[in-house]
Amino acid sequence: MEDWVSIGYLISAALFIFGLKKLGHPRTAPYGNQLGAMGMLVAVITTVVSMQLAGGAEWILIGAGLVTGSLIGYWLAVKVEMTGMPELVAMFNGFGGAASALVALSEIWKYLEDSSTVPEGLKLTVTMIAAGLSALVGWMTLTGSMLAMYKLKGGISVFGKWIKTPTWGPSWLNGVKILLLVAVGVLIYYSICEPTNTDYMWGIIGISCLLGIILVLPIGGADMPVVVSLLNSLSGIAAAFTGFIIGNSVLIIAGSLVGASGLILTFIMCKAMNRTLLDVLFKSFGGSGEKASLTRTKVGSDADEVAMMIDGAQKVIIVPGYGMAVSQCQHQVKEFADLIKEKFDTEVKYAIHPVAGRMPGHMNVLLAEANVPYEQLIEMDEINSEFPDCDVAVIIGANDTTNPAARSGEGPLAGMPIIDADMARTVVIIKRSLSVGYAGVDNDLFYMDKTMMLFGDGKAMMSQLNTAIKEI
Ligand code: NDP
Repeated sequence: MEDWVSIGYLISAALFIFGLKKLGHPRTAPYGNQLGAMGMLVAVITTVVSMQLAGGAEWILIGAGLVTGSLIGYWLAVKVEMTGMPELVAMFNGFGGAASALVALSEIWKYLEDSSTVPEGLKLTVTMIAAGLSALVGWMTLTGSMLAMYKLKGGISVFGKWIKTPTWGPSWLNGVKILLLVAVGVLIYYSICEPTNTDYMWGIIGISCLLGIILVLPIGGADMPVVVSLLNSLSGIAAAFTGFIIGNSVLIIAGSLVGASGLILTFIMCKAMNRTLLDVLFKSFGGSGEKASLTRTKVGSDADEVAMMIDGAQKVIIVPGYGMAVSQCQHQVKEFADLIKEKFDTEVKYAIHPVAGRMPGHMNVLLAEANVPYEQLIEMDEINSEFPDCDVAVIIGANDTTNPAARSGEGPLAGMPIIDADMARTVVIIKRSLSVGYAGVDNDLFYMDKTMMLFGDGKAMMSQLNTAIKEI
């Protein structure tokens, strides 16, 4: 029978790996997602069947868990707005970490109830180290992800009062982080010496919860994408540790895949921000969380004026940002691109910043949903050299990712590569006001002579612009 269980796990591991491979391209990503879900189904069925054969599965408990989990998952998937997706992903990361840590804890709990189950020698050492690390990573991921979720939201409502999520990180906090990590190491050592004493494990859990908070607390502004992808990676690592404790190969494989791919994404995000991971974790780049106060003004343009100017343009580059996601205007943006290509024979491309929006690949997902051809989505590094030849850069709800302040070497955006939209001959910016972006830094681009501000909601403005172009 063990052979069948191994084959079941092998099939599900293969489905995860093929699914991950397919996720590498937007065109094949939906299929990759289905393969991953199928892999999970095979893993669940294999585990339940193997439990039944090993002495009887707790069907009522498992059934209740499956039904409750499925209902909550379905409800969240239907209810959540597209703009709430990043927070939902952060929350799922946290729950993934906590679930793994709870499974690890339940294994250690058995030792307390029945000391004859305590392994000996090397096996005991490996199990306790894995349990300690699973608790460290899992609980840290839970509290860190909850805080990250509220940072992405901007705050939390308590009895109707909006409390902004703080960003705070004096340099001495780094010393505290290291001390807490050492304390966890010491507690793991003692838990090996006394495996039936769960107090050590509670100590590790408490410290890990605190570590999650003080790790995420200093990070804010533009560096949040790095944190979110790192927490995603940590949730996988916690699962892999738990796989070692309960001897489940598919959990080790699935956890390692999430851990490794999350880490790759973390480094991609670090590269996009021009930071090292250590800098993000220990230098508190994100700033104080204070938003710049605005003193300057700028007269807005109207859709007819912008349409007339685009009439003469040979090359237009569209720069989407978070505001496009908020207003859900990707279909109007695609219509705009189609219209000017057809009517004015204009060359149109899209400039994609790796951290535009609120989750990795956010702009790609939205534009793919509107059927924008993938060939037109050009990554920042590749498109930046084209802006000096570009007649009009049309920025739709992007702010930090186009802010020239990032080149200054100071402030929360310091050093972050941006889309060089300011190099275009004319810049059109669609947003509701002159307000700052996620990192809270005022944007000089709004006030340049060559910039036309089209104030209003992205969808309403794009619709007006499209109407104006049709009337030319
Ligand atoms: P920003 O978040 O900097 O700015 C978005 C702009 O959109 C705002 O200034 C806002 O201006 C405008 N906006 C909001 N709603 C609308 C609307 N309905 N219609 C039109 N405009 C609207 O956007 P970017 O995409 O340039 O930058 C993303 C930022 O988020 C970066 O700092 C990045 O580091 C951070 N981040 C990214 C994550 C990721 O994984 N991609 C995760 C976490 C953070 P106004 O209010 O005037 O309309």
